[in-house]
Amino acid sequence: MTPLEAILHRRIAAEGPMSIAEYMAMCLLHPEHGYYTTRDPLGRGGDFTTAPEISQMFGEMLGLALAQCWLDQGQPSSFVLAELGAGRGTLMTDATRAMASVPGLLEAAQLHLVEASPALKTAQAQALAALSPTFHDSVETLPEAPLFLVANEFFDALPIRQFLRSGDGWSERVIGVSDGALAFGLTDPAPVAALEHRSGDTVEGDLVETCAPATGIIAEIGRRIAGHGGAALVIDYGSSRSLGDTFQAVRRHEKVSPLEAPGEADLTAHVDFGALAAAAPCEATDDVPQGVFLERLGITARAHALAARLSGGALDSHVAAHRRLTHPQEMGSLFRTLGLFPAGTPVPPGLAE
Ligand code: SAH
Repeated sequence: MTPLEAILHRRIAAEGPMSIAEYMAMCLLHPEHGYYTTRDPLGRGGDFTTAPEISQMFGEMLGLALAQCWLDQGQPSSFVLAELGAGRGTLMTDATRAMASVPGLLEAAQLHLVEASPALKTAQAQALAALSPTFHDSVETLPEAPLFLVANEFFDALPIRQFLRSGDGWSERVIGVSDGALAFGLTDPAPVAALEHRSGDTVEGDLVETCAPATGIIAEIGRRIAGHGGAALVIDYGSSRSLGDTFQAVRRHEKVSPLEAPGEADLTAHVDFGALAAAAPCEATDDVPQGVFLERLGITARAHALAARLSGGALDSHVAAHRRLTHPQEMGSLFRTLGLFPAGTPVPPGLAE
């Protein structure tokens, strides 16, 4: 039993079964035993690899997309450049290197990072020392200013709840203990106000996921973008509408049961981009496949330019990285991009219909 598993068993014995959201929050962010609290999970020696860790081109494309939004909105002379869950700081390092080619842009930017993991905060502070980042525990404390923000594989880490359609109501999927082990169970069906809009497009037995922290964060970001200007690019795996169980655990690059080794595996769920767009008090794009988005931004021209300086194994892995980021059978389709922007300004590049 992991130390966190013992804590979970005691909690359930005292208070009864817990929601998947409570379980995810404890597994990922428990102050002593949480997954993100205790480690840097990224990379080959870790549990999973993300797009910015695959190739510098990913961060470069996103940085230039935000730069275009800044130009389109009249080059505000002072703005917040923000990232949610910046991992090792790789995306922002690549993004700002590319953004430096736009005169005046970085001089106007103050870098703000929202990060929960002490281990990754240290990595980000080192990687981005030249830009003197300010750290935040939540988006609420970001300064009130034009906000140009990026979040890659952040929203999938936020705690979800699962509900099974049962008659006109919903049974919540919860986690209890059965025969001495953590096990899923269901509550009695009841109406769920947050799912009223799903009564028409679901039937008995359908499972739907909600993520209140995600819609709360989007509402806060969207308010700032509507009020002060700016743009947000949200990249993650997911779809336009939640349907079915997407709660998953990954450990050392393999899928495992989400109830196995709590605190030692990464827990995620697919992002419901439709719910995010509906929660935004500013304009929101449809979710565009990552491969389409990156192609429209010119990743292939960039790949050719970089390839000209490479040969042998380095060239092979560069070509493989381009394919991995863009091909529909790799990350190109499952990963999607949502853009937020103020009414009356151009749609962020790569995301227009
Ligand atoms: N964006 C990075 C890292 C993705 S991993 C990349 O693409 O490589 C998820 C990131 O979100 C980590 O930095 C993790 O510590 C952070 N994170 C997860 N839950 C969080 C929360 N509730 N608040 C702030 N940061 C969180």
